[in-house]
Amino acid sequence: MKKFDYIIIGSGIVGCSLAYFLKKHSNSVLLIDKNSDVCLGASGAAGAFLSPLLGIDNSFKDLVNKALKFSTSFYNNNFPKSFVQAGTIRIPKNKIDKEKFESYIPYMSFPFEEKEGGYYFPVGSTIKPEDICKELSFDIEKLFNYDVKSIKESENSWILNDEIKARKLFLCTGANLSLINEEYFKLRAVWGQKIDILSSTEIFNNYHKECSISKSIEENGKYKISIGATHNRFEDDMSDSSFNLGLKDINYIKHNEKTLEIIQNDTKKLLERANDILTLKEIELINVKIGARASSVDYFPMVGALINSKKSFEVYPHIKKGAFIKDEQLILYKNLYTLNGVGGRGFVLAPYLAKVLSEFIINGSEIEKDVLNFRLFKRWARKEGKSL
Ligand SMILES: Cc1cc2nc3c(=O)[nH]c(=O)nc-3n(C[C@H](O)[C@H](O)[C@H](O)COP(=O)(O)OP(=O)(O)OC[C@H]3O[C@@H](n4cnc5c(N)ncnc54)[C@H](O)[C@@H]3O)c2cc1C
Repeated sequence: MKKFDYIIIGSGIVGCSLAYFLKKHSNSVLLIDKNSDVCLGASGAAGAFLSPLLGIDNSFKDLVNKALKFSTSFYNNNFPKSFVQAGTIRIPKNKIDKEKFESYIPYMSFPFEEKEGGYYFPVGSTIKPEDICKELSFDIEKLFNYDVKSIKESENSWILNDEIKARKLFLCTGANLSLINEEYFKLRAVWGQKIDILSSTEIFNNYHKECSISKSIEENGKYKISIGATHNRFEDDMSDSSFNLGLKDINYIKHNEKTLEIIQNDTKKLLERANDILTLKEIELINVKIGARASSVDYFPMVGALINSKKSFEVYPHIKKGAFIKDEQLILYKNLYTLNGVGGRGFVLAPYLAKVLSEFIINGSEIEKDVLNFRLFKRWARKEGKSL
């Protein structure tokens, strides 16, 4: 059986970022995906805009803006060819939104100036999703078209599909949680769509209002522009459409009518919203991508060790009644970690969190409490534990 120090399941921006940092400490890293290449899940559907979170100070805003500072300089210093620093103009949606923006001015974390009826942030940028995932994982051993159906703990390691062994296993599977059988570990799949168009209109910055528009790139005398994104939280069963996490290479399969109808509606919505920002002339639709963001219940990412709820309840039954327990007392799955729940800001959060998680693995450095999985377990145990 082949054995690796580190196996990462999921080769989106999260898995590729983690592989990049772990590779600095081991030559035995394997990156696995059920798709036929990197960046074919949510990461491949992203406009990959990087822009500040505005608002009054709070711990989520702190995290996002800290990650934005780290990730923009990380991309710019290490992968300048994949990085486009064009600045972003944030335009209020209406009068109430404008008042809100004004009230945020004392709390701005990045330099800005007023421009075109909005606020221009020079830090705003985009990253090319496929290029960055390829660059990050360039010297990593990869296994594609490999659907991990089972993971089993065995003698201080994990065995995947009874075939491959990992000393430490990292689940970076985005909205697909089929490998985690823990009720507290919940995510919402928020599906969305991005389109690329050609237009005769040149655009010099990124814009964000009800959607984002990218700075244009000239292509054969026309201008290529990305427009994203929509948000679809499907309540109905969508397994008879391409909005199905079990499928492979979803943006390269033939969509059925049900899927196409949603895609066409979303394309219309995106074009209307983009034209509400700028008048885009002579539009030709050249690319449509769909994907599912993985959103946690409190919007914070889900990082680090996984708690074994069954064993923790066996050893500490009083937690079901809401008794306090220290994180370090909980029973964990040994050598199993997640980096997930990055929602609509994966390209901002992934490099920063991958560095934090890799330093925890290598040096035992601390991970900030807000992103650890402990919080999810404790909240769930307090709420649901009594009925278990
Ligand atoms: C339309 C849209 C627009 C977006 N726009 C932006 C944006 O402008 N800026 C931004 O920062 N973020 C944006 N996002 C969010 C961003 O794309 C996500 O946060 C990010 O891609 C999540 O990365 P990931 O690696 O966690 O997930 P994914 O990219 O989905 O990767 C997970 C991978 O795991 C694989 N996998 C899952 N289970 C298994 C298994 N059992 N065996 C093998 N492989 C498995 C999947 O095949 C997949 O490739 C957008 C998302 C969408 C959908």
